[in-house]
Amino acid sequence: MDKHLLEQLKKMIAESNNIVVLGGVRMEEECGINSVRMENVAYEVEQRYGYSPEEILTPSFLQNRVELFYDYFKRYVIQLDKMLPGEAHVAVMRLEQSGRLQAIITRSPFGLYQMLGSRKVIELHGSIHKYVCPKCKKEYSDVYVASSNGIPYCQNCKVALRPDLALYGEELNNTRISKAAEFVEKADVLLVLGASLNSYLTKHLLKYYSGNKLIMINDKPCINDDKADYVVYGRCSEILPQIM
Ligand SMILES: [Zn+2]
Repeated sequence: MDKHLLEQLKKMIAESNNIVVLGGVRMEEECGINSVRMENVAYEVEQRYGYSPEEILTPSFLQNRVELFYDYFKRYVIQLDKMLPGEAHVAVMRLEQSGRLQAIITRSPFGLYQMLGSRKVIELHGSIHKYVCPKCKKEYSDVYVASSNGIPYCQNCKVALRPDLALYGEELNNTRISKAAEFVEKADVLLVLGASLNSYLTKHLLKYYSGNKLIMINDKPCINDDKADYVVYGRCSEILPQIM
């Protein structure tokens, strides 16, 4: 690890009043949470259901195979016993508490920052903690869904709930995307954590950044890393406590 670089980043972050975090799902994987892109999980899901996570997490499955959808969802997506924030989330929260962090933009729907009290999170894909009745719009919690027998239904309408989540093939919420873009546009220091610069969403948001302090921290090299001004390879849970 380049100690000199870490010192430089620490100073840069300490001196900025306008920091924005783009948090990748890798941060959650480091805490032991399964994500759909993990190959071992995808394999197990295919073995069990005959479909991949990407096939199941679609509007068509929610509509036509709702029992299978929720069996998968409760078994692999809602992981209430595993959802504990890690060192990386704690470090990001220290920044938020200092008042210098403007937003945490994330594709992760697991809500780990909010568990630490964050009020600055923009969840681009929605949240696995919230469920809505498509008919009367009543909201339900993850605990309600996790403890339901089979398909979770609205108590009033008896129709299946839907997660407040963008499923595969669905558009992301435009208001959240524009809000995120606005924060990136105004950011001084932009931290891309546990994500590559290569994903569609990151690429889209980076177009708005005009600063020269784009810091990327990720576990392994990936195409387009050279678009960052500073790159550190390693686990966020190990690097972040050293620089913030
Ligand atoms: Zn209802």
